[in-house]
Amino acid sequence: MRTSTSIELGRFGDLGAGVAWKEVVEAYYRDDLAAAWAGAQALGANFGGATLDWYRMIEGEAETRERAAISTIDDHLRLELIDAEVPHRDALAEVAQQACSQVGQQLGWDYSVPVLVTVLPYEVDAPWHSARYGYAMDKYPYDKVCIPGRVTQDPEHVAAIIRHEFAHVVTLNRTGNQAPTWVEEGVSTWVEGTPRPVGLWRDVNELEASFTVDRRDPSTLHGVGDAYAQAHAMVSWLADKYGANKIADWLGAFGNNSFFTEARMRLTGESPADEALRETFGISENQVFRDARPD
Ligand SMILES: [Zn+2]
Repeated sequence: MRTSTSIELGRFGDLGAGVAWKEVVEAYYRDDLAAAWAGAQALGANFGGATLDWYRMIEGEAETRERAAISTIDDHLRLELIDAEVPHRDALAEVAQQACSQVGQQLGWDYSVPVLVTVLPYEVDAPWHSARYGYAMDKYPYDKVCIPGRVTQDPEHVAAIIRHEFAHVVTLNRTGNQAPTWVEEGVSTWVEGTPRPVGLWRDVNELEASFTVDRRDPSTLHGVGDAYAQAHAMVSWLADKYGANKIADWLGAFGNNSFFTEARMRLTGESPADEALRETFGISENQVFRDARPD
């Protein structure tokens, strides 16, 4: 759950600096989609190609909100969808609840942040959308997991996507948003459980950069696939070597630092991932990059 109003750069591109656009994004983070969409339309997508991603996300979520109904699954989980597009609401609610409880157990989650799972309509699932496979968004009143409508036909596929995106919610909140992308995507692909053959193996800096290419360009997606596969291999290696239950401890280790640990990290330039790895597994980030690489 979002606690500050800082406007950051993220995997969906530059948010733009204009004051009016900032208000649009603030409304989006409140999940006040009518206001966000009205503001975005008034401004137009004239902030350069990067902000177009945000424009499209706001459009997709606002269009869903206009036509969808929200149902409560339990204390911490709600489901938003358009019944005409997804006729099997109850079955999907059950899949979502199971996926979330499985991930919660695996990652040591206390469900302290409520989650809204939103199924986006078919018409917003298009090549120009930068997050076609689903995404998790850290909002103020609750965190939000958006999944494309087309995947709801296949219960196993949709369960894997919800596990992946719900794991993002847990990782983000348990680490205090301190985890690098390889940890976020590594944990999410690990709980997702889909096999990912390893391709190109990168070092720590190269890997971080390779998650943020333009996903709308099919020629760059291959490199992104390799980045996900490497992150998956590293988290799977940690789980196999040290025990699956240690992954939950590891996420907690990002956020439990004393004042003295934080001071040492600032002095030595130790990264949050390195500190959490040493605390939980007794190994460094560089060691994971070296030793988890398959032969
Ligand atoms: Zn992900």
